[in-house]
Amino acid sequence: MFVGHFGIGFGATAVVPRVSLGTLFFAAQFVDLLWPTLLLLGVERVAIQPGVTAVTPLDFLYYPISHSLLAVVCWAFVLGAVYYVTRRYRRGAVVVGLAVLSHWLLDALTHRPDLPLYPGGDWRIGLGLWSSVAATLAVELFLFAVGIWLYLRTTRALDRAGTVGLWSLVIFLILIYAGNIFGDPPPSVGALAWVAQAQWLVVLWGYWVDRHRQTLHRSLPERGGETGGEGVYLR
Ligand SMILES: [Zn+2]
Repeated sequence: MFVGHFGIGFGATAVVPRVSLGTLFFAAQFVDLLWPTLLLLGVERVAIQPGVTAVTPLDFLYYPISHSLLAVVCWAFVLGAVYYVTRRYRRGAVVVGLAVLSHWLLDALTHRPDLPLYPGGDWRIGLGLWSSVAATLAVELFLFAVGIWLYLRTTRALDRAGTVGLWSLVIFLILIYAGNIFGDPPPSVGALAWVAQAQWLVVLWGYWVDRHRQTLHRSLPERGGETGGEGVYLR
């Protein structure tokens, strides 16, 4: 799962328009942002094995810290708590936590049974959508499209950067996704891990785009909220 996670980030802005798109990308993709660093440190392991699924050549051998359910639940609490402590926005903190958790649920839909329930556990979860390229594309592109649609309903561009930045980000994500699915397998795990670090760029891109868009603020009765009822405010 790749663009589907970013679809969740885009779509979550409809629930918490005060939270930046960059933060929601960071949350929804957090465990995949962590994963390449754990690979480079030798803490987690993956093998490149073309044909292991129809969609990805990656065989996820060992990734309990980034991708076991128990660890992801802990990460969700940690990120939600950090968000709450720094921003004092309860609904935002809850949605940040849920976005972290959504990553595991969507991965469970696509992966082979390789997702551990807890570090060291024998049970592995995965419904195996990756056995079909068509089904994977249908689900992911649907999530991505709905997310973008919600983001477009929630925000509007303040300037050209708000439009061009958003659509170039969307195209960039689709190109990476197409490269992942239809391109050659990565030459080595090290190369894979370093390229995967480029996802941090997408998070920064999310923050940047978001600063160039304003939110249509529809009746969110938040304490200390900027406006009540129908209105527009700037972030
Ligand atoms: Zn993942």
